[in-house]
Amino acid sequence: MSALPVLVLGGGIGGLAAALALAKKGCRVRLYEQGSELKEIGAGIQLGPNVYHMFEVLGLTEAIERWSAHPHNLVMRDALTGEEVTRLPVGSDAFRQRFRGYPYGVIHRGDLYQVLLEACRAQAGIELNEKCKGLSFEDRGDRVALRLEGGEAIEGACLIGCDGLWSKVRAQLLGDGKPRVSGHVAYRAVLQRAEVPDDLWQNNVVLWAGPKTHLVHYPLRRGELYNLVAVFHSDKVEEGWDVYGDPEELKRKFADERPEVQRLLDKINVWKMWVLCDREPARRWSKGRVTLLGDAAHPTLQYLAQGANMAIEDAVVLAAYGEITGFEWEKTFRLYEDARYKRTARVQIMSRYYGDAYHAAGVVRELRNDILAPAPGAAPDFEAMAWLYDGIALPRAQPNR
Ligand SMILES: Cc1cc2nc3c(=O)[nH]c(=O)nc-3n(C[C@H](O)[C@H](O)[C@H](O)COP(=O)(O)OP(=O)(O)OC[C@H]3O[C@@H](n4cnc5c(N)ncnc54)[C@H](O)[C@@H]3O)c2cc1C
Repeated sequence: MSALPVLVLGGGIGGLAAALALAKKGCRVRLYEQGSELKEIGAGIQLGPNVYHMFEVLGLTEAIERWSAHPHNLVMRDALTGEEVTRLPVGSDAFRQRFRGYPYGVIHRGDLYQVLLEACRAQAGIELNEKCKGLSFEDRGDRVALRLEGGEAIEGACLIGCDGLWSKVRAQLLGDGKPRVSGHVAYRAVLQRAEVPDDLWQNNVVLWAGPKTHLVHYPLRRGELYNLVAVFHSDKVEEGWDVYGDPEELKRKFADERPEVQRLLDKINVWKMWVLCDREPARRWSKGRVTLLGDAAHPTLQYLAQGANMAIEDAVVLAAYGEITGFEWEKTFRLYEDARYKRTARVQIMSRYYGDAYHAAGVVRELRNDILAPAPGAAPDFEAMAWLYDGIALPRAQPNR
């Protein structure tokens, strides 16, 4: 292994997971985050059985279980009529049995982040640097140099761009322009349990599907908090992240929907807004000693709730190939993207389809409800999600012939 460290740019969920996964394989890692402190903003994250497998590999199961909650069902309701369209009993024994014993969970982003951060801090070989903005890199053949704001250049054996949707590493590596602005915006808020009327509190992930809108709610932190995400098609589609929203536009967009929806929206004083973007799937996102991971590589709309799940899978797969190749980085990166591009592309594409289904209007909305309605007496159908929740087989070294 090179005496030079692995450089990770970006200390979000993907960057921390990558640092941890690689350090557990014996790499020395230097991570650079532009933020003034390593922290994650509020709101909830759903965790599929696929990512619980990754937590097991990373030795995080116990810490995650301390903070995550397990909803009984994923429920979809029609936001105009209130009728239940479909439900998936993700809290059932049958679900766990189907997905190799792994559960479905929800967690506060800050808690997930903290679990990863503490694991990185406890892991030998990781150096975490804050207030360090990466500007560009140079692949020098046998090493890579990362230039930080302020002029400093750091040398490493390789560079992993975990710098999110607006990745600078991607811009230099692939030069494929800006992400696609979907025209959808998400408003997110977290309520205290006491602020939620009893009749609106339930241990389910509920999605109210309305024309060009949807509202999702679920309890977090073992029921102390209630997570709300309201999504709608907006005319205000400026690029941005972590912006305070316009409650008037939000209320107007949901005005025709069920009283349950309105009552929850009324509970919120401060919403934060995200302009939702993705990209067309890429076949390659590595060159030489530089690669991408997480949203930098395959940004997705959040309608399958899998962006962070994919970033963590990426990290585990990348580290596994590193070990297999003896940390020959060019080879590692090639194997890693070969293993990841189709799965992550499927998440990108299917997320768009799910968004269309959630936001259907008119006859399409009625058809959606008919198609998704379970046959009377039928057992829950987990197979439709098997491609995703079955997760991945981890790469193993081929025995020498
Ligand atoms: C409304 C909404 C709901 C979602 N719900 C879910 C869900 O339920 N489940 C799920 O799995 N996913 C969900 N996601 C997606 C998930 O949040 C992202 O996919 C995930 O955070 C991506 O992680 P990342 O580390 O790749 O990128 P990011 O989280 O964007 O992290 C990138 C990091 O890099 C840093 N950075 C950027 N540029 C530089 C630079 N030049 N120098 C140094 N540092 C830099 C940033 O400050 C940031 O810390 C949701 C997203 C949204 C918008």
